[in-house]
Amino acid sequence: MLKSPGPRLDPNKANTHILPEFEYLAPRTVEETVELLSKYGEEAKVLAGGTDLLVRMKQGVLRPKYLISINRIKELNYIKDRGDHVAIGAATKLRALEKSDLIKELFPALHEAVRSMGGVQIRNMGTIGGNLCNASPAADTAPPLLVFEAEVVIAGPNGRRVVPITQFFTGPGKTVMARNELLVEVRVPKPVKPTGSAFIKIARVAMDLAKISIAVALRMNGNVVEDVKVALGSVAPTPMRAYRTEEFLKGKELTEDVMWEAANIVRTEVKPITDIRSTAEYRREVSGVILVDALKKAMERLGR
Ligand SMILES: Cc1cc2nc3c(=O)[nH]c(=O)nc-3n(C[C@H](O)[C@H](O)[C@H](O)COP(=O)(O)OP(=O)(O)OC[C@H]3O[C@@H](n4cnc5c(N)ncnc54)[C@H](O)[C@@H]3O)c2cc1C
Repeated sequence: MLKSPGPRLDPNKANTHILPEFEYLAPRTVEETVELLSKYGEEAKVLAGGTDLLVRMKQGVLRPKYLISINRIKELNYIKDRGDHVAIGAATKLRALEKSDLIKELFPALHEAVRSMGGVQIRNMGTIGGNLCNASPAADTAPPLLVFEAEVVIAGPNGRRVVPITQFFTGPGKTVMARNELLVEVRVPKPVKPTGSAFIKIARVAMDLAKISIAVALRMNGNVVEDVKVALGSVAPTPMRAYRTEEFLKGKELTEDVMWEAANIVRTEVKPITDIRSTAEYRREVSGVILVDALKKAMERLGR
C-alpha cells in the first residue's frame, strides 16, 4: 500500500494560507536596502516577487519580522546590452525576460527556461534574482546561466563584488551571499562564436518545479565539438555543471555512439535524491536521455 508523504512533505497540506505578521519596508536605493539588511540581520528578508518567500511564510517555514521590498528600486529592473555581455537587474521580472528579443536571440536556453516557469501570473511577479537567491536545486534559470558562464553582482556594506555563477550556490537554499548582501545584477557574456543552446525540463505537470532539467551550450569546429557546457537542475544539492561529460565531448564528433557514451558519464556525475517529485533512479537514468536530446536540439540550432 502507498504511504502518504505526510504534511511535512506535502506543500499544500502545510500551507496555512495565512501570512504571519511582519513590518513592510520599501527602500528606494540599493544602499538603503543594504543598511536595513545590516540593521535587522536575521529578522529581515528581501521581498522581490514573493512567489517563493510568501509561500514559505504561509507554510510557517519562515517568519521574518521585517520584509524589505526591492520593488521600488528602479536601478534593479532592466535588461541592457553592454557590448560583450547582457546585464539583467536582479529585480527584473521573469516575464520581461520572456518578452525580450535580446534574450531570445542570444540565449535561447535561458529564454526556454524562463518560459517553462510557473504560469503567466508567476512570471509577472517572480524575478530572476529571487529565483537565484532562493537557491532551489530546481531553480530553472540556474542551468542556462551556468552554461553561459554568467556572473552575479552582489552589493554589501563594503561595496560590490562579482561572483561567477558556478560559485554562487553552496547548498539547498544556500548561496555565498551574507545576510546583509543584496543581489543586484546578473551578467551573461555574449557568445563569441555561433553557439547552439537548449534547455529541457521534465516536470510532473506543466506548472511544477522540475523533476530534472538540463541546459547545454555547444560550439562546433567543423564536425567536432570545439566547446560544450552542460548543466543540470534537480539532480544534486545545487544546480550543477557536468564537467566530466563536457571534457569527454570536447574534440569529438557528435555521433549517436558518442552522445550515448556521454549519457553514461553524466549518469555517474549526478547525485540525485528521491523526493516528492521523483526518484533518484529515475533522475539518474533520465539525465542521460535528456543530455542526448539537448545536444541534438543545440545541433539543430546551429543549423546541422
Ligand atoms: C505556482 C508556482 C510555480 C512556480 N514554478 C516555478 C518553476 O517552474 N521554476 C522555478 O524555478 N521556480 C518556480 N516557482 C518558484 C518561484 O516563482 C521562482 O523561484 C521565482 O523566480 C522567485 O522569484 P521572486 O521574485 O518571487 O522571489 P521571492 O519569493 O521574492 O524571493 C525568494 C528568495 O530570494 C530572496 N531574494 C529575492 N531577491 C533577492 C535579491 N535581489 N537579493 C537577495 N535576496 C533576494 C528572498 O529574500 C527570498 O529568500 C514557482 C512558484 C510558484 C508559487
